[in-house]
Amino acid sequence: MQKFVYQSASYDELADSPIEIGNQKVLSFTANNTPHQMAMYGPFTLPNEAQFLADMKKITEEAQRVVGQNPIDHYLFIVHHLEAGGGGLEHLYSTTLGARPGTYGSEVGYKNFLRLVAHEYFHLWNVKRIRPVALGPFDYDHENYTHMLWVSEGQTEYMANQIAQRAGFCTAQQYYDQLAQVLGGVENQPGNKLQPVAMSSFDAWIRAYRPDENSRNSEISYYDKGEMVGMMLDLMIVKASNGQKHIDDVFRLLYDKYYKGLKRGFTDQEYQDAVAEVAGKRFDDFFQNYVYGARTLDYATALGYVGLSFTSAPATTNGSLGAAIANRNGHYIVTSVKRDGTAWNGGLNVNDEILQLNGAAPTDEAVKQALFASAPGTALKLQAKHGAITHDLSLTLQPDPDRTYQIQPAANATPDQQRLLAKWLGK
Ligand SMILES: [Zn+2]
Repeated sequence: MQKFVYQSASYDELADSPIEIGNQKVLSFTANNTPHQMAMYGPFTLPNEAQFLADMKKITEEAQRVVGQNPIDHYLFIVHHLEAGGGGLEHLYSTTLGARPGTYGSEVGYKNFLRLVAHEYFHLWNVKRIRPVALGPFDYDHENYTHMLWVSEGQTEYMANQIAQRAGFCTAQQYYDQLAQVLGGVENQPGNKLQPVAMSSFDAWIRAYRPDENSRNSEISYYDKGEMVGMMLDLMIVKASNGQKHIDDVFRLLYDKYYKGLKRGFTDQEYQDAVAEVAGKRFDDFFQNYVYGARTLDYATALGYVGLSFTSAPATTNGSLGAAIANRNGHYIVTSVKRDGTAWNGGLNVNDEILQLNGAAPTDEAVKQALFASAPGTALKLQAKHGAITHDLSLTLQPDPDRTYQIQPAANATPDQQRLLAKWLGK
């Protein structure tokens, strides 16, 4: 009779414990002698179950090594296989993940799934136990504000990619390419120059999950920017400690001191103090300028510490309208305008309709050619309807401001730089 009676010590524990009843396929593996189960809901194709479970063991054991202390005696992955599957949510002893039914069949899908596993699994330390003061125990009656989602989410994403790399699921160069891609997304977004990542975190309740057409101009993601700040801090710690420490040691210190010792979260200042204690050096100016301010991170210097070169090039040689236009039943409507781009400077607004393009009614082909495939300096004549007002606009296409970024081993890396590189890569 007592078989299916469950108890929670508190409402907080109950809210953190998802329960699902159904005919899920259950897979099992052990990681560091701890039983792990996977409840697989919905249709999916798994080409090689034994390999999959071996890879799950590999990535969870690599994640276990970061903090080096295992707070769990069991763990459950609830995986929902849905056509639009993706994302996940972390808990103390479990996570729910979304995956497409065919995700395990392609190399990209398979590796992305393992990265998602690393992200949600690393949360069992970072955020569920190592956490800012605002993130638990939660005040369930009010919003819980914190400046540090760039640590809780951004650094979890940073560590997920580190863990996948350390576990051998990508080469070092593939890891650099992946970082360079996230870096490009951050640096090509105008909001990155305006919104400090600490404010992006603080505004999560009202902004992050309610994007509008101006979000890219005024905001930056605490996931992507947080991953970049995590990379910078890791490189700076490796350099300052001469290869004795890396960012793992910050998580270890926070786990011991605040989760196990003081049994509470940490403040912004205490996080900075923890980094200083590990690195043997304070980075107050860095936090002020790049976390609580919106200055551009000095990637080249930090990557140079470990003998990596950092270069960039224009994304295209075409001019850039700096706006998106959608054909809605034959009406060409501006759906977004990028800060300081051609459209922005020329007076185009979101929801304007393009009535004429260079003296003729617009067509898909004309819009594509004239607005998106012309050389910088090309003059454009537009007639646009803004509400009830019709404007004639003369625009000159500006060069595309977007850049692509490359991170590669420098040809002249010294043995000292290579030693620091090995530490950074967790070798
Ligand atoms: Zn997360």
